[in-house]
Amino acid sequence: MGRLYIDCREFPSEMACSVAIVADTEKELVDAAVHHAVTVHGEHDTPAFRSEIRNAIHKGTPPVAAPA
Ligand SMILES: [Zn+2]
Repeated sequence: MGRLYIDCREFPSEMACSVAIVADTEKELVDAAVHHAVTVHGEHDTPAFRSEIRNAIHKGTPPVAAPA
């Protein structure tokens, strides 16, 4: 099983967040990403938001360079 990640640099935010979250399973990754989004970005943990998070998952590890 490969690594999965979500890179907060892909999301527009007023604080230009540079956090990336990596995990082995989708559940761990989504839970950690939702926790980050709620505590840092003031998002709300809803089923719609969780599916948005799932759509942002990439395989592998976060790139060193910021996404375009
Ligand atoms: Zn963030």
